[in-house]
This record gives sequence, structure tokens and C-alpha cells, in this order.
Amino acid sequence: MSYGLGILKGMSVTLKQFVESYTKKGSIVTVQYPEERREDVERFRNFPILVYDEKPEAPRCVACDICAKECPPKCITIVRDRDEQGRGLQKPKVFDIDLSVCMSCGICEEVCPFDAIFMDHQFELSAYDRMESLNYHQEKLLKPNSYLHQIRPTDATQIDAKLKAKEEAKKKTQPGTTA
Ligand code: SF4
Ligand code: SF4
Repeated sequence: MSYGLGILKGMSVTLKQFVESYTKKGSIVTVQYPEERREDVERFRNFPILVYDEKPEAPRCVACDICAKECPPKCITIVRDRDEQGRGLQKPKVFDIDLSVCMSCGICEEVCPFDAIFMDHQFELSAYDRMESLNYHQEKLLKPNSYLHQIRPTDATQIDAKLKAKEEAKKKTQPGTTA
């Protein structure tokens, strides 16, 4: 065993990177943020958003509460919407996420059976108070499917195809529909 070999190896990597930053194009790994920005990778995740297809009043979310139950720090609050007779509707009346508590784990996206919640790329969300400003309500969380296509084109295209196939299969099983 030779003492100090690890330090020398580490220093040689540092020296190599230092020299390459002057001699090799594309080897600088830092950028001058905010003037310069790195290109996002599709699966980059920050905080969740809710997706709607045609109009924000009809989100994909059916208020099943699964994401709120599975969220480790319990920062999702959902209240199901109701009609005039008090019957539960398949959409949330309240859907809040406390971003000051959210740990960006992505579990809500993974467990949602309705492809309604996704991790966003937006990270410049600083605020002066960490209570109300960071408690995002449904109106602020809702984004159109076109936005999902913008940030996650591969996933959004696959999900569209899946939802379309599901819709067609449903139509075929409805009474009075011929295959
Ligand atoms: S986002 Fe998904 S898992 Fe969460 S309540 Fe809505 S449908 Fe259920
Ligand atoms: S990303 Fe994780 S912590 Fe944040 S709302 Fe979803 S499940 Fe909760």
C-alpha cells in the first residue's frame, strides 16, 4: 500500500480538467448562469404540475387521492369537487401542493393512474415568504398537454397514444357499439 497515491490520482484529474478547459472544446462543465443555461434533459424534475387536455376546468385528475396518500412529506391537499346534490365529481375542487415541503421525489407522477401529474422543469420559483407564495393552488399547477409536449416530448407522445387506445377500447365495450 502506498500512502498518498489517492491524493495524487485526484490531483492529476484536476490538472487534466484544468488544462483541457483551455485546450479542448466543450470540456468546460460549468456555465455562467443566468446568462448561460444548460439544455434541460427530458426527465429533469423539479416540482409537479397538473395536466389538462382541452380546458383547465376538465383536468385529467379525477381526485382519487392516491398521489396525496403516497407523497412522503404529505404536501398535497386534495378536496373532491361536488355537484349541487352533493354527489362527488371526478375532479378536484382543491388541489394544492406546498412547494416549500415538496422534495421533488417524483412519486406523485409515478403513482398517478391517470397520467395527470408530472414533474416540471421550472426551477426559478423563489419567493419572499415560504408560506402562501409557495403553496401552489390548482390554477397555478394546471398546464395544457401542449406544455407537457414542450418539456417532455417523448413521454407526452407515448401517453397520448396510450390514452387514445384506452378511449377506443372503452368505446368498443360500450353497449350499442359495434367493433
Ligand atoms: S393527480 Fe393522479 S393520483 Fe393524484 S389525485 Fe389526481 S388522478 Fe389521483
Ligand atoms: S414530488 Fe414527491 S414530495 Fe413533491 S408532491 Fe410529489 S410525491 Fe410529494
